[in-house]
Amino acid sequence: MAISVAIVGAGPAGFYTAEALLESGADVRIDIIERLPTPFGLIRAGVAPDHQSTKQVARRFEQTALQALVDFFGNVEIGEVVTIEDLRASYDAVVLAVGAGLDRPLGIPGELLPGVYGSALFVGWYNGHPDFRTLSPHLDTRAAVVIGNGNVALDVARVLVKSADEMATSDLPEEVGRAIRAGGIEDVYIIGRRGAADARFTSVELREVGNLAECETLVDPDDVASSGDPGSDRQRRQSERNLAILRGLATFPRGVKPKRLHFRFNLTPVAIEGRRSVDAVRFERTRVVDGRLVGTGEFVRIACGLVIPAVGYRSFAIPGIPFDPARGLYPSTDGRIAPGLYAVGWAKRGPSGVIGSNRPDGEICAAQIAADAAVQGFGEKPGRPAFEACLRARGIRSLTFDDWRRIDAAEIAAATGPAPRRKFTDLAEMLALLAEDTRRIPAAAASMTAEAIPETAR
Ligand code: NAP
Repeated sequence: MAISVAIVGAGPAGFYTAEALLESGADVRIDIIERLPTPFGLIRAGVAPDHQSTKQVARRFEQTALQALVDFFGNVEIGEVVTIEDLRASYDAVVLAVGAGLDRPLGIPGELLPGVYGSALFVGWYNGHPDFRTLSPHLDTRAAVVIGNGNVALDVARVLVKSADEMATSDLPEEVGRAIRAGGIEDVYIIGRRGAADARFTSVELREVGNLAECETLVDPDDVASSGDPGSDRQRRQSERNLAILRGLATFPRGVKPKRLHFRFNLTPVAIEGRRSVDAVRFERTRVVDGRLVGTGEFVRIACGLVIPAVGYRSFAIPGIPFDPARGLYPSTDGRIAPGLYAVGWAKRGPSGVIGSNRPDGEICAAQIAADAAVQGFGEKPGRPAFEACLRARGIRSLTFDDWRRIDAAEIAAATGPAPRRKFTDLAEMLALLAEDTRRIPAAAASMTAEAIPETAR
């Protein structure tokens, strides 16, 4: 019998695994199970809305989803109602491709003040993720602080300062664009706790912020004078490229554009200050000694009304799966968590790398499943019919890939001007679209129960 595989999570790691399984030539049946009605994970809700070319990889994933051996079960959360044990009882192999959807905490006082939003929340909000549509961030401020020197920090800063014209070809939800523009942010500070040579920006993304229509970049030449000691050859090359770009940015004319992006280095956040909401971040000036951060006892305060810590992500605990809270992932041996249970992508490695970095994980996982099949007697479990029976027994009706394609078509049809789509940000609206009679859909946000899912679904 065919090897039955359930992939939990329809993001890049999940799709690359499905693709590798298909390419392996093994006799497999693959079900991709997704909490949202919409597939593609970070492609839809993590990649910045103005990076549409990166999102094109979704077309490739779509081809995988349309293969006869692959099925998509949208709007099904694996956790309390449908459990990992249910999946493991039904499928020979269960692959966790759930990403890392939570923010790593900063662990400093004031982190919970209104006006502070981790990048998982903020990026989810500006990408129209249904979980964050009601975030309503404090944008009514002149200055925002973005903590972190990775690409997410650059994404957040760019989205805050780009003009409406620059965002016109993006899929930024209109209400998000209006809220950002109405807020009036003029100064965005990107703060690194290490020096410029240690920043984790990639050069294409860093160069991009030097070409913004309404925003100039401010870099202190003293911060980019020395090269530091960034480690491996690869890091050194990236560091040299970044330093060259930052040195160029440091020479740009000042005072010619209405907004400013300030790069500040060697500042470690020690407290977020404010009474009712944030009004400043306090930093200690730090040095890197033998790779470690050392405080200098000198403190710097940056006044602001919005703080976005973009300091990395972590996965969430799922009942029935060992979880390492310190690293924020599911411990595994190169992706093998337990017999028949695997992890790929950020759930396996933690939150690092670009979209394509997930591809090798998928290939490794497909090879592991093939190798384990003989030893563990894969092919015995019924797979899809047992899972469908489980969903019926729990009163859950899932959505199909065709349902997603109807949502997709409706979003594209609703786009205005050069925008590629107008995203649904509300689950209830997606379900209403799928219902033949929208009056049958409850007004409240969708639940996963059979009553809330239209008859058009499976
Ligand atoms: P990241 O690249 O790991 O950067 C995290 C940053 O946060 C680092 O500068 C880190 O500094 C800093 N940090 C961590 N803890 C901190 C703390 N307690 N206080 C102050 N700073 C702290 O993570 P990311 O930006 O979230 O990106 C995740 C991955 O997605 C990366 O691989 C990134 O390249 C990728 N990505 C790619 C794109 C793209 O290609 N366009 C876009 C977005 C994201 P230290 O170095 O000192 O630890």
